[in-house]
Amino acid sequence: MHHVRPPSIITIDGPSGTGKSTVARLLAKRLGYFYLDTGAMYRSVGLKVVRNKIPWEDHSAIIKTARQAKIVFRFSRAGIQKIFLDGKDVTRALRRPEISEAASRVAVIPEVRTVMVSRQRAIGRQGRLVAEGRDIGTVVFPKAPLKIYLTASAAERARRRYEELKKAGHPLSYKEVLHQTRLRDRRDSRRAVSPLKPAKDAVRIDNSRLRLSEVFDTIESYI
Ligand code: C5P
Repeated sequence: MHHVRPPSIITIDGPSGTGKSTVARLLAKRLGYFYLDTGAMYRSVGLKVVRNKIPWEDHSAIIKTARQAKIVFRFSRAGIQKIFLDGKDVTRALRRPEISEAASRVAVIPEVRTVMVSRQRAIGRQGRLVAEGRDIGTVVFPKAPLKIYLTASAAERARRRYEELKKAGHPLSYKEVLHQTRLRDRRDSRRAVSPLKPAKDAVRIDNSRLRLSEVFDTIESYI
C-alpha cells in the first residue's frame, strides 16, 4: 500500500437529520482531524438573537450580533466538543428546537453568512478538517478534495429527529417534527444566498436505509 495522505479538507453537506453530524464527528476522530460544526455557528447567532430579543426584521441588529458573537470550539477532557458563546458553554442550549428555527432564520441574511464563512475559512487554513453544514462544498471550501452530500427522505429524517428530541426531553409530536423538517428544508434550499444543494463534484450518499457502518465504508472507499 502507498502512503496515501487523506484529503486535507473533507466537506459534508446535506439537509438536517441525515446523520451528518454523527458521520462528520466520527470521521474527524478517526483521521485525527478537527471537526467543524458550522450549524453550531448559525445556532449560536440564533441563540444570541433570541436571548437579546432582537426582532427578526431587524437585520442590521442581527448582523451586528453575528459580528460580535464570540464563538469558540473547545474539547472537554473526555474529548467531547463543546461550544462556547461569549465565554459560556451553550452546547446544550444550541440543540433546542426553537434554536434550530432561529438558526435557519439568521442564516438567510447574506451578511451573517459572510461573517460566518470568513471565520470558517480561517479555521480551514490549518487543514486537517472535516467541516459539516449546507454550503461547505459549494461556497466555503469549493476546492476541497473530498465532498460528501448526505441525504435521506424527509419522513426518515423527521423520525430520527423525533426520537432524538424525545430522548433529550423536548417532546414534540412526530407530525410537528415532520412539519418543521419540511419547513426548514424549504427555507434552506430556496434562500437566495448559498442555498442547500450538492456541489457538482460531491459524492452523494442516501442514508435512508444505510447503517452508519455502511455510510462509513462508502466514504472510506473515496478517502
Ligand atoms: O446543521 P444544523 O441543523 O445545526 O444547522 C442549523 C441551521 O443553520 C440550518 O437549518 C441552516 O439553516 C443553517 N446552516 C446554514 N449553513 C450551514 C450550516 C447551517 O445555513 N453551513
